[in-house]
Amino acid sequence: MMEYDAVIVGAGIIGLATAYQIKKQRPNDQILLIDKFSAAGQGNTAKSAAMFRCFFSSNTNLTLVNSTVEFFKHVQSLPTADLKLKYVGYLWLLSKKQYGTITPVLASMAQKNLEYSVFEGSELAERLNLRIAVTGNEEARMMGLKDVDKGILVPKAGSIDIDRLVQFYETEIRRMHVEIRYHTEAETILAEPQDSLGIPGEPLFWQESGVTGVDTSSGKIKAKKTIIAAGVWANSLLTKVGIYSSMEPLKRQLFSVKASTPELKQLLHTKGFNKRDSLPFTILPSPKVYMKPALEEEAFWFSYGDHFPRAYQLEEDPQPEENFYRYGIYQVASKYLPQFVGAHPSSSWAGQYALNTIDGQPVIFEQNNLIVVGSCSGSGNMKCDAIGRIAAALYAGEEYAQLYGNERFRVSDLGLKNRNVEPEKLII
Ligand SMILES: Cc1cc2nc3c(=O)[nH]c(=O)nc-3n(C[C@H](O)[C@H](O)[C@H](O)COP(=O)(O)OP(=O)(O)OC[C@H]3O[C@@H](n4cnc5c(N)ncnc54)[C@H](O)[C@@H]3O)c2cc1C
Repeated sequence: MMEYDAVIVGAGIIGLATAYQIKKQRPNDQILLIDKFSAAGQGNTAKSAAMFRCFFSSNTNLTLVNSTVEFFKHVQSLPTADLKLKYVGYLWLLSKKQYGTITPVLASMAQKNLEYSVFEGSELAERLNLRIAVTGNEEARMMGLKDVDKGILVPKAGSIDIDRLVQFYETEIRRMHVEIRYHTEAETILAEPQDSLGIPGEPLFWQESGVTGVDTSSGKIKAKKTIIAAGVWANSLLTKVGIYSSMEPLKRQLFSVKASTPELKQLLHTKGFNKRDSLPFTILPSPKVYMKPALEEEAFWFSYGDHFPRAYQLEEDPQPEENFYRYGIYQVASKYLPQFVGAHPSSSWAGQYALNTIDGQPVIFEQNNLIVVGSCSGSGNMKCDAIGRIAAALYAGEEYAQLYGNERFRVSDLGLKNRNVEPEKLII
């Protein structure tokens, strides 16, 4: 049976970026990428809002996103790939208390030369037809909504077309002769002794053993290194061989509301915040319901990242919950933005974050010839190039990865043993 240098399980954005970086750095290695779906990027990559922001308090996040966005810019400049990169910006609407808490964070961001501007609530009220004094409304008070005091606009932030990015990676890795097999599901990770003695129950605990590939729906695949980039499905494979990647699946939902009235059209195409004359990606104060301007479909995409009491639970085909919009998002959004009164979603979908419940950052480590790359915690797309490079450096046994733009990143910083990441203070 042929032995590959590496088999990568999962052709989501992370498996694709990892395959691309490994093959770029080691063109002679035989790499096989498998996925249980019929095409690349059909897992949670396809469910994403595809937003990015180069504005984080943690240096880890900043480094991973900044270098990836620079890579996106590079890809966008190629004649073959248009990622539809749109710098619409992020607009955080903040209560007085929130602004007070965030002020020291902003000061340290300014020291890092991260650009942002501050808007007074009254100006935002005028520009967006925004109700800033919501607590005058009894229902809003009962819901614990907060008045808007200020807004922070971050310009180095926006969206890409995630399908285009998937296409770019798939085309490139095929061109570099990465073998790809779809409809191929890894069922178990193969754990075998280094020197088999043919004893039943091998590997026995006293034998030197490691991972030698995967058993799939289409038979065994042998590889020197097995790379699990299976997103929320990773632990279904890993826990069977006693490995845990510090990740829990958490459902997330998006609701698309068409800009079907003149007031909503005006809001979607608000002038003055960016060169596109578009509403920025906007985050309401509390609860932090957010909306993306989906310009290509003249719509707003709404979401909210809820936690307690939502279960950590792997779902093969998660469904959006009508009431999550009706009694949740709608009630909050329409209090701040009366343009949405009576507006209902024309479509909706749900996916799952692979959430690292400890620090919300990706996890990349090696154990027994098995590399795990994932736990992207809801920001895998905006970090994919950096994550792919770090996984490729780990594969090559390097201490540091070279990120796009040449910054070095210590591989073990995202590992489990010598993990070194800073907690993030600007969480949505
Ligand atoms: C609603 C929502 C909104 C989001 N918005 C954003 C955003 O705005 N910006 C951002 O950066 N990120 C966002 N994310 C997060 C982002 O989508 C993920 O971090 C990213 O897609 C993770 O990529 P992945 O390759 O790890 O996982 P996936 O895309 O899920 O890929 C995993 C792949 O592994 C395959 N697989 C699994 N098990 C097996 C097996 N046993 N055998 C073979 N194949 C297998 C699956 O079929 C799948 O294709 C969002 C996520 C959701 C759900």
